[in-house]
Amino acid sequence: MATSPAVVVPERVGPPVPAIDGIDGLQQRMRECETTEDWSFLLNDYLQWGNNTKVGKHVAIFNLGAAHDCPNRFTDRCQVDGDECYAVVDERRYDYVLAYMRRQEYLWDCLDAQTFADAFEAICARKRVEPRALKISQAGDVRHSADIRKLERIAQRLADLDVQVFTYTASTHLDWSGAEHVTVNRSNEHHEIGARRYLAVESEVAIPEDAVRCVFDEERAAGVPSDERTQCGECRLCIDADAPDVAVVK
Ligand code: SF4
Repeated sequence: MATSPAVVVPERVGPPVPAIDGIDGLQQRMRECETTEDWSFLLNDYLQWGNNTKVGKHVAIFNLGAAHDCPNRFTDRCQVDGDECYAVVDERRYDYVLAYMRRQEYLWDCLDAQTFADAFEAICARKRVEPRALKISQAGDVRHSADIRKLERIAQRLADLDVQVFTYTASTHLDWSGAEHVTVNRSNEHHEIGARRYLAVESEVAIPEDAVRCVFDEERAAGVPSDERTQCGECRLCIDADAPDVAVVK
């Protein structure tokens, strides 16, 4: 039987992380979790519903780690310099952001897919706004094949709730073939993984014929006020698997 290459050791950039602000508090809360309800309140503190700009409140965001530790930082898989990444700049400017992202990674590594999905389902049952999607990683990226397998199991479960798991990734060196329920937007050209390419171009004329422009980006360029633009969650081009390549103008 053919075997696929499995990357099982997390690739981290930068030095080891010996301490994370707030980790004692997180560990204490984890020790106190006994029920799905308990886990759901903890997980909800590490989810963001929308981001006040492009991502709407119907979409939960969870990061698998900090941009500082991103496996693609300073590699040719990433389209920007490792110190220019907007998320790295944010983490550098605000220490609490870096610590929060690292605690998210810690929580992700401690939670099995079943517990994560059960907790997420309990959160959805309490939401007033209809949950439509779970976006994985605004900063950082998928580290190894175990992340992909866990994401796939979560996505399978959340599909029953009509919540689609999607991600943007430069981790094109990994084997994504098992990610059938996760919508994968690849952000480089190295390998043809996922549902589509999500690319940044210099100008509107550079958008390839077989790609469509990001709806939010198009409205921004047309001068639509920020609070009237179509957000991710209302637009599903990157969320569903059957849309063409998507482009944004830098
Ligand atoms: S194309 Fe739609 S889903 Fe994708 S980033 Fe733009 S607004 Fe969001």
